[in-house]
Amino acid sequence: MKKFLSLCAGAALVFSAAACSGATSSGTSDSSAPACPAAAIPITVSVNQWGNIVSQLAGQCGTVSTVVTASSGDPHDYEPTTGDIAEFTNAKLVVINGVGYDEWATKAVSANNSGVEVVSAATVNDVQAGANPHLWYNPEYVTAMSKAITDQLKQLVPNASTYFDDQQSAFQTAMKPYFAEIAKIKAGASGKTYGATESVFDYMAQACGLKNLTPQGYQNSITNESEPAPGDIAAFNKDLSSKQMNVLIFNTQTEGSVPNQLVATAKTAAVPVVNVTETMPEGSASFEQWQISQLEQLATALGLG
Ligand SMILES: [Zn+2]
Repeated sequence: MKKFLSLCAGAALVFSAAACSGATSSGTSDSSAPACPAAAIPITVSVNQWGNIVSQLAGQCGTVSTVVTASSGDPHDYEPTTGDIAEFTNAKLVVINGVGYDEWATKAVSANNSGVEVVSAATVNDVQAGANPHLWYNPEYVTAMSKAITDQLKQLVPNASTYFDDQQSAFQTAMKPYFAEIAKIKAGASGKTYGATESVFDYMAQACGLKNLTPQGYQNSITNESEPAPGDIAAFNKDLSSKQMNVLIFNTQTEGSVPNQLVATAKTAAVPVVNVTETMPEGSASFEQWQISQLEQLATALGLG
């Protein structure tokens, strides 16, 4: 049961000694970016989905440490190491998802660095407790979060205000193909439906205009982090077998027999399966490249080319 609940544990298979040793630091994402007009500040980000965005926005003015990467195991119940906690202690800015997703980061900050500035995606977007925590899959939340991060950076390093505005503009430009792909799917996918092995992609599916046909009982179990009842799993398999939904969204960082069984049923019934991940995979060039590649898979699965 725990295996299924450990939604993101697939990546734990590659849990390496390096991943256990604490946060990974990345300097700037673009070495051709102009030099920072002030001293770079240390920034710690709980998870790499937000970490890449922060790196793009901070540019040469921030030294970004990201605690949870694709190889760190399950962000939902990640246990920070002593080294991770030290990263929070020394940061001038901490960026978290919030709404319970990275509670360990909130605790590390409040116990060790009460004076630090914290930008939380949940707070920025007024997301209430109990809501779907996968906020980086909501395009509006990502935009609002990026602006909140830029605002905070400008307050922390006022001499680099213009620099941060330029980084924000560059990020918006880089995000244009992402919004274009969402608009393309939304325009072409009217009336299309999906089922999902878990809720990671639900905000994006909604932004794309897709209707969620995952059986309600199954959805409720996932939301409450409990094992779906056999009847709910059977209902989901039946809907896939009879092609009630156009695509199945599969979080490949989910471990366990139930999601794998649903994928097998979808494949037998020739319902296209779209693979998505919780964290940004190794080898993705950027947040937007990762997201665009998944959206392109979705467009193909929906017959939108
Ligand atoms: Zn998740």
